[in-house]
Amino acid sequence: MAVIIDGKAIAKRLRDAVAVQAANLETKGIIPGLAVILIGDDPASEIYVRNKERAAQKAGVNAQTIKYTADVSEVTVLMKIKELNLDPKIDAILVQSPVPAHINEELIQETIDPSKDVDGFHPENIGRLYANRSGYYPVANTPRGIMTMLAHEQIDLAGKNALVVGRSILVGRPMFALLQQANATVTLAHRYTPSDTLMHLLADADVVIVAVGQAGLIQGTSLKDGAVVIDVGINRLADGSLTGDVDFASAQEVAAAITPVPGGVGPMTIATLLQTTVELAAQHHQIELEQAWQNI
Ligand code: NAD
Repeated sequence: MAVIIDGKAIAKRLRDAVAVQAANLETKGIIPGLAVILIGDDPASEIYVRNKERAAQKAGVNAQTIKYTADVSEVTVLMKIKELNLDPKIDAILVQSPVPAHINEELIQETIDPSKDVDGFHPENIGRLYANRSGYYPVANTPRGIMTMLAHEQIDLAGKNALVVGRSILVGRPMFALLQQANATVTLAHRYTPSDTLMHLLADADVVIVAVGQAGLIQGTSLKDGAVVIDVGINRLADGSLTGDVDFASAQEVAAAITPVPGGVGPMTIATLLQTTVELAAQHHQIELEQAWQNI
């Protein structure tokens, strides 16, 4: 029977550590500032943004949300980002996805100052990640949160076969880069990976990270005995409940460790967003956060 990785508990530890670091910064007169731009009235996005705001305030991060109606012009949003880029009280900027079709999301991502790019979507930061650059740069929060979970569970990745399923810029691709930085042998599967190839890859994978958005995509019978399974997927079932991409009951029989949905990766993402915000604030003021995340 697999160990269930308690993302909620690890996220709480991380949020507590963020609060300690934010309090340290406050003694130096610095309050980390996070600006969230929300466009339109997508109910799920509104909930995400509200949760981010609430968690930020609790951790000592000053969060502000800038709301626009769905018909806002692209230039208005770009001008606002440029204003926030220059605002010394703002350390981190994010634009909640999805944005309306008339707004070019790539242009949005490229307009955010890379040193305030809390989501790690700016090509400069993605380039640093893929080039294994030294020094600090922000990395997408969901995959980074997964690395924190794996470290907390003392899962050694060096030399392991890691399979990432899904290749979005939000999860799959930065996950691929982080796992190879941790010296795993990494394979990236996606929608054009034939199902029998996926089965083949799964049978050989010591660590499986799934970010597709398809309930029941992976069954326990496809997993290698003792695999570590990280389920990023969030799918709403007909009865309103949430489930991941992995069939939890059958996977739990085979895996060594597994994340539940909800209560796995999800809580880590917001906690990591706050972690990154505090780091960016420290960077802007040239302060070293010493041993900041050692006890997560
Ligand atoms: P996306 O739609 O951008 O990407 C999905 C990926 O899955 C694509 O790269 C596609 O090639 C791949 N794919 C589709 N069908 C496949 C198949 N049959 N086999 C293999 N690969 C296939 O999605 P995303 O933004 O990466 O999100 C993926 C899932 O993770 C969603 O359910 C989303 O809600 C969830 N998510 C959760 C969190 C969290 O914090 N828990 C964060 C981000 C995303």
